[in-house]
Amino acid sequence: MNNKELADLIFPDAKDISYYEEKYPKRNLKEGAVVTRYAPSPTGVMHIGGLYQALIAKKIANQTEGVFFVRIEDTDQKREIENGVSEILNSLEDYGLSPDETIDENGNDIGDYGPYIQSKRKDIYQSYAKYLISEGKAYPCFCTTEDLNEIRENQEKAKQRTGYYGKWTKCRNMPIDMAAEKIKNGEEYIIRLKSPGNEEKKIKHKDSIKGSIEFPENDQDIVIIKSDGLPTYHFAHAIDDHLMGTTLVIRGDEWVASVPLHLQLFYVLGVKPPKYAHIAPIMKEENGAKRKLSKRKDPEAAVSFYKEEGIPKEAVYEYLMNIANSNFESWRRANKDKDVSEFKLELNKMGVSGALFDMVKLLDVSKTVISKFTAEEIYDYVYNWSKEYDKELFDLISNDKEYALKIFGIERGNIKPRKDIAKWSDVKDSIIYMYDNKFYESKTDYEFQKITDKEEIKKIVNEYRDNFFDINDDKQTWFDRMKDLAEKLGYAREVKEYKANPENFKGHVGDISTVIRVVLTGRANTPDLYEIIQVLGKDNVIKRLNND
Ligand code: GLU
Repeated sequence: MNNKELADLIFPDAKDISYYEEKYPKRNLKEGAVVTRYAPSPTGVMHIGGLYQALIAKKIANQTEGVFFVRIEDTDQKREIENGVSEILNSLEDYGLSPDETIDENGNDIGDYGPYIQSKRKDIYQSYAKYLISEGKAYPCFCTTEDLNEIRENQEKAKQRTGYYGKWTKCRNMPIDMAAEKIKNGEEYIIRLKSPGNEEKKIKHKDSIKGSIEFPENDQDIVIIKSDGLPTYHFAHAIDDHLMGTTLVIRGDEWVASVPLHLQLFYVLGVKPPKYAHIAPIMKEENGAKRKLSKRKDPEAAVSFYKEEGIPKEAVYEYLMNIANSNFESWRRANKDKDVSEFKLELNKMGVSGALFDMVKLLDVSKTVISKFTAEEIYDYVYNWSKEYDKELFDLISNDKEYALKIFGIERGNIKPRKDIAKWSDVKDSIIYMYDNKFYESKTDYEFQKITDKEEIKKIVNEYRDNFFDINDDKQTWFDRMKDLAEKLGYAREVKEYKANPENFKGHVGDISTVIRVVLTGRANTPDLYEIIQVLGKDNVIKRLNND
């Protein structure tokens, strides 16, 4: 028996690889266009690190007018979770990272290079495995777990590297007839690569992020097809990225050590390897030490966390861009109003050690992002968020949309918009006093700041209400009247006037307006008081002033 006959015996129905080579022709793209992919395994909730990889892959494809596709890697069926695929696809869509090609929610392919889910590509992998066997580049291996344990023990005793390689392999040089006999007898087997590598030799790899790296060649006869007939990740990714026309594999750097093996697989298959860009993981600082953001320990590792907190996707996106390229921040400062898509991401500017995830910084980015939204946009976001996560807030804003829009419009749309909201879960606290029933419900002893004397407060409030308040005043007039009020009651019209001669005054105009602010809102710090008064309206203002 020869190799070809052995290959036929193992995979009698597998097609010749020429069938697939023709079915998936080289992509017709313009010069410089990069084809990237995100290739998640549907084994758990969507991780922020996955979103980060997808974002970079999509951005690089878009920047070069290339293609970004998503391939679901589900060959490890033991680890799969229910709805894992739709969770991934929905998260990508939420963040504006929809791929050009993938599967839809019913598992149908969108694109010409599918199936985009590995479990439907079994025949393809088997064809390529058959090809390798027929070329003598792969072989069936019958080793049992006991055999493998024995090999390992012997290696350890001899102080040698462990693994299935070189002289330690039991099945690599098994006569073909013997292998055929075992198969015919129904013995279990897997398919291994017959590695042509030599550990003593080095290969050079130029990673698009990590730069030049040197590795020893791979000499392990790794498993390419498992006993369930499905491929290992290593084998599957090589065939898929070849047939799907990936030109740049962007993936987590836990795979960087596999590069020698992967390049060897492309070599053995006789096809051109893609380029690789290995992304350092997102890290977290804990007790002064850096560690990977962990699904188990860190709630912020799950993409769903941001949705629950109400951190807008635009903010998460910008923040991830910040982590990816440190020059993003200065670009943003110089281009405040540009769309983030105009920023040019450069892989060689990505850090080679993991970037630190900083929640404070994310919330800061988020405040700026939210400050640019219109009142309508804020309303829509808060409406959708509160519908799911905060019934009280939902009822407040949806009962009277016009009023809510006025509230959200306070200090918005001008050159220095308010920046006090970082997430939708902050909104309730920042607007609740604008709602009468909630305002009176929550009334406690106010912090009046500087002026605390009850009589004095009463005098200021009454005087303001009776002689200095007119809802029709424009902002300047309103402020001038506040000064008039201050003057009348013995306070300085200007802060600096007060500072020059504090002994001449009871205080200054700021102290007076703080009293009015606290009486009207229950807070010493709020957005612009004039705008608040305008939104509350005359009757409400009078009512609140009367109450104290
Ligand atoms: N399925 C692999 C993972 O989830 C993909 C690695 C790759 O992008 O090639 O880690």
